[in-house]
Amino acid sequence: MDLMTTELLAGIQVWHLVFGAIGLLVTLMILQSLFRKKDVDDRLNVRAWCSACGWKGIASKYQRKCPKCGGELQKDAG
Ligand SMILES: [Zn+2]
Repeated sequence: MDLMTTELLAGIQVWHLVFGAIGLLVTLMILQSLFRKKDVDDRLNVRAWCSACGWKGIASKYQRKCPKCGGELQKDAG
């Protein structure tokens, strides 16, 4: 009886540790992805304009075509 109780308690403690560790990891991953996404968005979006039709706006750093006319986009150096 004593042995079973000890095993049960030990099992609960292990599961608490496992769930606690998983919960902590998930929380950290969510926080990290949120911060990383914001960081990436800030870095990848630049001011751009189209020399063909005069469109101006925010575009991805890797976007080369104007969303309005498909012409070549000009990017801010910074
Ligand atoms: Zn254009």
